[in-house]
Amino acid sequence: MGSTKGLIRAMNKKGSRKTKKPPVAVKLPPPPDPSCCERCGALYTKQAWRRAGERSHALLQKVAWTVCPACKQAERGEYFGRVVIRGKFAAEHEEEIRRRIRNIEERARFTQPLRRLVSADREGNVIEVLTTSQKLAHRIVHELKKLYKGKASYHWSPDDGCLYAVWERDE
Ligand SMILES: [Zn+2]
Repeated sequence: MGSTKGLIRAMNKKGSRKTKKPPVAVKLPPPPDPSCCERCGALYTKQAWRRAGERSHALLQKVAWTVCPACKQAERGEYFGRVVIRGKFAAEHEEEIRRRIRNIEERARFTQPLRRLVSADREGNVIEVLTTSQKLAHRIVHELKKLYKGKASYHWSPDDGCLYAVWERDE
């Protein structure tokens, strides 16, 4: 796990996300129904967050404005999924891979507004992507492997319960 520590140190160097402890999911009381996220427009109603979309004036008159869990999580730099992309092929196709990842996120977000990227940083030949959900991390690696072959592996970190998903391809 030495490489993981190295990555975290590398990110801390930038100084923006010093408290990188991934949280154990905290159960917060649900927001009032309906609530609207003032950052991303997701709407909370009938016990679920729904993606941003057209909202009627009448509805907006009665929503409670709040910040949805994913926006709070992203703002604090918290994550539950960590994708590590490495190898020569990945480094040489970084732009394309980043575009793919953004597409995968957009599609995930369409149905599940709380699944999104927290950050994507490159350090040497390693790109590390943090996501607010384990499912999104899994999906990114799954789709990269489907698109470009290579090798995928997954494991859950015993320290923090994060899904650690790795995709690598050299040639
Ligand atoms: Zn939001």
